[in-house]
Amino acid sequence: MIAAARYVVVGAGIHGLSTGYHLARELESRGLGSGADIVVLDKSRPGAGASGIACGVVRNNYFQPAMSELMQACVEAWESDPAAYAYNPVGYIALGAAVQEADLAATYERQERIGYRSELILGEAEVDAHMKALFPDWRAKGVTVCLHEHQGGFAFNQDSVHGLHAKARGEGVTVLSGVEVTGFEDAADGSIAAVETSEGRIEVGEQVVVAPGPWAKQFWAMLGLPDTIDVHTPSGEVARDRPMWTYWNLQEGEVGVDPLLFATADGGAPPVIHLDTDAPLAGDDGRLLTDELWGIYFKRDRHSVQGGASPLVVEDDVVLDPYPQTTDIDPAFPDLFCAGLSHSMSRFEGCRALYKDARSGGVGAFTVDNFPVFDYFRPNLYGIFDSNHGYKMIGVGREVAGVLLGGHSRLLYPFRFERFATGDLHPVSSSPYPWS
Ligand SMILES: Cc1cc2nc3c(=O)[nH]c(=O)nc-3n(C[C@H](O)[C@H](O)[C@H](O)COP(=O)(O)OP(=O)(O)OC[C@H]3O[C@@H](n4cnc5c(N)ncnc54)[C@H](O)[C@@H]3O)c2cc1C
Repeated sequence: MIAAARYVVVGAGIHGLSTGYHLARELESRGLGSGADIVVLDKSRPGAGASGIACGVVRNNYFQPAMSELMQACVEAWESDPAAYAYNPVGYIALGAAVQEADLAATYERQERIGYRSELILGEAEVDAHMKALFPDWRAKGVTVCLHEHQGGFAFNQDSVHGLHAKARGEGVTVLSGVEVTGFEDAADGSIAAVETSEGRIEVGEQVVVAPGPWAKQFWAMLGLPDTIDVHTPSGEVARDRPMWTYWNLQEGEVGVDPLLFATADGGAPPVIHLDTDAPLAGDDGRLLTDELWGIYFKRDRHSVQGGASPLVVEDDVVLDPYPQTTDIDPAFPDLFCAGLSHSMSRFEGCRALYKDARSGGVGAFTVDNFPVFDYFRPNLYGIFDSNHGYKMIGVGREVAGVLLGGHSRLLYPFRFERFATGDLHPVSSSPYPWS
């Protein structure tokens, strides 16, 4: 076990590994050091957290300008090495009901401005025609807007983590599994002098980065940060004592159809689809499941069609370990997911019988405004708290590496913790999801 390191990164998920890899490259290219100066610690192993179970969707469909610009940079990172990252650039389609038209139109206009390749289709008949050209058996109802992103797509979760892991190791970064961080030792000036772990103390030469994914609240407590905070809104109002962290169960599952069944009309790989509609949803047996706004997202996986639906708040104290086995999925989820697939395309009729009863989904930690917090919390401790947005954010580690070496990141600045005190919050969309 090592006793000291210049840079200690905690968490070997997408963010910790991306930070380790990019920091190593930056140190090397600036003649300031190398990967040998960096250690990444994980209490389990690379990909043991949310990054290893994420659906893997990579999209730019964000109503918030800062999210959209950051995501554009992240998509470029995915595109830089699709093979290593197991990235499938198949595109992404968001389909919505009338209530979402204005948001998706605004998102499209911004994508146009920043040069992100996408198309907007408005009107029920026009959307239907666009989708039927891709999938002749398309039959979803109540959809009046479609944002078709020609960039983005999805990546295979464990494979992309292993790709990043290999890149980091290739730069000389040490990645240690089975080392749990249990606390931090403070120096007199408030900086972190050492990281305490299950395997002993690691003295910090320069900086610490924590990228704990769903374990955010535990690190928040270790750093003595408050459980509740006051949130200043742009209008000047103050919401007092809001819980900093909320946990949601991300509901996901898969149907064991031949993945090639889900192909475009010309036999190509299908884009990821996210459908929200207020059309009544019934199962293939005719039983009404809901007549309120509902939504599902789905993609072609290696052995199935996989996806999810709106997440559920964890009401009681969250139990994270062993991750992700503690996740509670609504017993009604399989019916909704399969009926949603069948509602979309007739090729999925009867797929409920093929629903895989394997445990799927996972718990995510969301900040008080549901957007990431990227910031310094001690003079030498940087936190990557992504509010469960972040598998797609593979480029954040590159930005963080620049900040650690004294730079400013225009892309990360809107996510500073100070925004809750200044009211510099992100605009809120009409989406039913906490991540749009
Ligand atoms: C079911 C599900 C589906 C998702 N789908 C998508 C999606 O399609 N697209 C998308 O962009 N995002 C998605 N997300 C969100 C995304 O997965 C996360 O935001 C992202 O993976 C977080 O990455 P991370 O590196 O911060 O954390 P993680 O990948 O969770 O890594 C944190 C690591 O820290 C380690 N750790 C924890 N505590 C300690 C400790 N005390 N000491 C040492 N190590 C510790 C853990 O073992 C873990 O490996 C999904 C999330 C879930 C749960």
